[in-house]
Amino acid sequence: MYNYPYKLQKLINEVSRLPGIGPKMAERIALYIMKREPEYTENFKEILDGVKDITLCTRCFNVSDGNICSICAEDNRDRLIMCVLESPEDVVMVERTGKFKGYYHILHGLINPLNNMLAENLRIRELCDRVKGSNGEIKELILAINHTVEGDATALYISELMKEYAAGVKITRLAKGLPTGSDIKYADEITLGQAIVERKEM
Ligand SMILES: [Zn+2]
Repeated sequence: MYNYPYKLQKLINEVSRLPGIGPKMAERIALYIMKREPEYTENFKEILDGVKDITLCTRCFNVSDGNICSICAEDNRDRLIMCVLESPEDVVMVERTGKFKGYYHILHGLINPLNNMLAENLRIRELCDRVKGSNGEIKELILAINHTVEGDATALYISELMKEYAAGVKITRLAKGLPTGSDIKYADEITLGQAIVERKEM
């Protein structure tokens, strides 16, 4: 049986591990990289090397190239309102709507016991600490997480916890303008913006 040269096969294997890339696509990408000029791979290497400098913001857990991300570093945002999201790519989505001017908190997942995703694996404890630590400054938490089984379980968990931690905080969720079970990552800016404006108290 024919095999690709060892180093090329290694590249194909690595590329095929990327999310959403099947074996055929991995071959195409690997062969494309192989055929490019050495400067291309050098540059690529440098970019990959730079990934280790990307870290999580110590405040909101968004991706950041320093201790504090660029959004937390802006001090003219609305401190009364915080938007809770599942993952860093959701920040870009919400920012693009232009309908939210507060700060964020990224959970890094949703509660899903079947996948061993428990509340303690998420940044929920840190969220509680932030809300409590704000001494009443934070008036509303928008849980901009999906209307799915996992999203509902997570929202319920947080809202119950907040009753203990910070009873006065209003907890809202996005309006269900988004089709049930659909992902906010794939919503368009207008729809998501509308869902933020029409958010409902839990
Ligand atoms: Zn931050």
